[in-house]
Amino acid sequence: MSTEAVAVDSGVVRAQRCVICGTPLSGPLSYIFRLAGIRRSTGNPNICNRCKTHIDEGRIVEVSVLFADLSNFTGLTHELGPERTHQVVSAFLEQATSALVKRDAFIDKYIGDAVMAFFNVPVRQANHAAQAVAAAGEIQSGLEELRGRFNLNLNSAVGVAAGWARVGYLGSTFRKDYNPHRRRCQPGGAPGRTSPAGRDPGSRQHL
Ligand SMILES: [Zn+2]
Repeated sequence: MSTEAVAVDSGVVRAQRCVICGTPLSGPLSYIFRLAGIRRSTGNPNICNRCKTHIDEGRIVEVSVLFADLSNFTGLTHELGPERTHQVVSAFLEQATSALVKRDAFIDKYIGDAVMAFFNVPVRQANHAAQAVAAAGEIQSGLEELRGRFNLNLNSAVGVAAGWARVGYLGSTFRKDYNPHRRRCQPGGAPGRTSPAGRDPGSRQHL
């Protein structure tokens, strides 16, 4: 991606072409593809929306899943008010998204002040678990800048899980079926730490 990166938008470096299929995503040629409905995916701007659909094929693949949110933030929102809460959450998610996208993660969804992302789908990564842990470290270390910017004692909890999973039907069943992962990754008593939420290559979890 290094030679193809052309722009930085909100801290996210954007590739000129889809890192999976090579479809142009910037420049005059990309205009033609946009007319055909092919554009940057909302889950990762460096892949096209056509490759994004590969995540829905119902295959069983090895994935790493990362979940990150701000710790004890619900209480803080009462003091901050809606506008400042929005600014803080937006800055946190922007910083987290940058750390994830540059490691080829796919942003599954934002849930309030939390982000959930996959590694190894749809962008194949031999070292997806290491990439997820590296992203977790950057999300944690990035809080230092946010604390100074907002003059708040912000902390986050980040969970990483790796294993075999059946991917597909993410829109309606993901959150309900993947509750065990989310429970382990909730802040609980460990803000500021990355929690390994388990690695069981023999298990199959329906995402
Ligand atoms: Zn593509």
